[in-house]
Amino acid sequence: MLVHSIVNKPDDLVFDANRAFRCCLLCGDVYQNEQDRLPHDKYTPEIQYLTSIAREEWARNHAKEHTIKEHEDFRMSMRFCTPTAATKLVPLGIAPVSDMVLSDEHRLAALEAPRLSTQEVQS
Ligand SMILES: [Zn+2]
Repeated sequence: MLVHSIVNKPDDLVFDANRAFRCCLLCGDVYQNEQDRLPHDKYTPEIQYLTSIAREEWARNHAKEHTIKEHEDFRMSMRFCTPTAATKLVPLGIAPVSDMVLSDEHRLAALEAPRLSTQEVQS
């Protein structure tokens, strides 16, 4: 049985950007299954398969939260993500580097994104 967890707050330190996740490049919501953070020796191919299905399901359902026009406008922008998404993704360690180089709006969004307190980070 998979346990789902949705992380969409920059201060939620459960998220691990080094493990499998999906994120919305329009709004910056992030999904990571709790089992995707299992130690590597317990991260079996079966669990990887099941969590990949969960990520796809989340992405498919989440995409419906945005209008067709939002999807089309984003696709036409040729950007990695929107500035709104950059504001939420940068604090989680997901940096849209190409957008930050090519777009002032993205660079400002990334600079103004809230920072995580290093004192709260668990190791
Ligand atoms: Zn979204």
